[in-house]
Amino acid sequence: MAQSDMSSPLLDPRELAEPLPLSMGDPVVCILGSGDFSRSLSTRLLCCGCRVVVGSRDPGRLSPGLFPGGVELKTQREALEALSEAGGSLVFMAVYPEHYSALLALRPLLSGKTLVDVSNASALKHEGPSNAQTLAQMFPSSSVVKGFNVVSAWTLLTGSYDSSRQVLVCGDCPSSKLSVLSLARRLGFGAVDVGGLSASRAVEEAPLLLFPSWRGPLLVTTLLFLFFYLYSVLRHVLLPYLDQAENNLHHLPMVTVNKALPAVALVTLALVYMPGLFASVLQLHRGTKYKRFPDWLDHWMCVRKQLGLLSFLCAALHAVYSVCLSIRRASGYMILNAAYRQVKAGVADSWVETQVWRSDLYLSSGILGLGVLCVLALTSLPSVGHALNWREFTFVQSGLGYTALALSVAHVLFFGWDFALHPEAYQYYLPPVFLLSVALPCCVLIGRFLLFLPCCALRLNKIRRGWESERNVRQKKRENGDEFGDV
Ligand code: NAP
Repeated sequence: MAQSDMSSPLLDPRELAEPLPLSMGDPVVCILGSGDFSRSLSTRLLCCGCRVVVGSRDPGRLSPGLFPGGVELKTQREALEALSEAGGSLVFMAVYPEHYSALLALRPLLSGKTLVDVSNASALKHEGPSNAQTLAQMFPSSSVVKGFNVVSAWTLLTGSYDSSRQVLVCGDCPSSKLSVLSLARRLGFGAVDVGGLSASRAVEEAPLLLFPSWRGPLLVTTLLFLFFYLYSVLRHVLLPYLDQAENNLHHLPMVTVNKALPAVALVTLALVYMPGLFASVLQLHRGTKYKRFPDWLDHWMCVRKQLGLLSFLCAALHAVYSVCLSIRRASGYMILNAAYRQVKAGVADSWVETQVWRSDLYLSSGILGLGVLCVLALTSLPSVGHALNWREFTFVQSGLGYTALALSVAHVLFFGWDFALHPEAYQYYLPPVFLLSVALPCCVLIGRFLLFLPCCALRLNKIRRGWESERNVRQKKRENGDEFGDV
């Protein structure tokens, strides 16, 4: 079969020169159109033991070797007749939607067949019916199923090495949809039924979406970064320059970025756990879990994974920046200058025990925090996350998540030490960045601690097991009574 070697798992149509022996039960599939998608699909179908008939406007024009030898190349009409003779019903429409009207003459031959619309939307949110709905209107005696548009011609050729890819399928006829779903599974894809043809717009637009679930988290992270970066520039570069003509511009590419990154990592990590706290407080207040959360909270809960991964990214970058800070030319000069000043001052030993403890403690807690964040990031990979059961996943995401937050807060507090207690920490009346960044995570940790108190934890546990407060029970009874009254 098709793979040339293990490092290149691409199916090669030329290596499929000989037709594969077909048994009576093998499905027969017709593809209209002889372009890129048709070539890849026919190769994959052939590899999976299907008989493939390709219908082209001009099969004589196709150069030899373009399709594997096992594929039958015919005119559109002959291909559909061959499909009917073989008792097949699946027809892939591998042409662009603007050419659907050119196929209207084939209506009688396509009657009773399942037409698989593989087209993609040309733009997001365009008005009117989807391509699949237009096709269904053009061929009312055929059954239209939307599918396979989310896999590229390339993916179709990458064989079983890319079988984790999902194929979204929708259509109004259950039996037609079922045959497309089972064909997708036969080709090694994860087939997902996403409903009737009314879902086809979303399926068509799926390949055009650009990280939809990442937009909000990316915006929040960018805004936080800009805030902390500009705040540091103001406090450490601009104001010292205006006040004492001190030139700290060289801080901009490394030092200032490395002040903003950990602050963003910490605040973003706190934002991962805040919606959970809000949800708990709301349930405690309402005395039930059977009421919907407000939309903003629902959306926030849905992007916690993305926020967590962005927090991990910032923390990892902070670690790399911190390691590289010491190899900067500026650090070399500063150490030499400090050593010279020390020699001139006649100080032989500059060891300060508390500073040694401080630096070891903040480095150690930072490294541990980053390690735990690493584990969290790994479990967010679907292949790893799916291998965990519910309890393991909750332990990692909630238990280890709060551990990472606590370690990160400890890292910042050890870094700050008693600095926040000295007036010079508030130069130009502005608190240091680390103090600003640690405020929200501290609130989240305190909130979590309060929810652990038995008065909250026991009630919350009952609510999560379905218990409802008297007030809710009375309200429900009243509503039910009103309904019966209406009847
Ligand atoms: P393509 O390479 O341009 O092939 C389109 C085929 O349509 C042509 O080979 C031609 O076949 C036929 N055709 C062209 N003009 C026609 C006309 N006026 N009337 C009737 N048939 C005409 O395009 P493609 O990349 O294969 O894409 C085909 C469909 O698959 C599109 O709807 C696309 O959105 C969808 N799709 C493609 C990919 C991909 O990776 N390429 C992925 C997902 C979905 P004949 O000359 O043999 O008739």
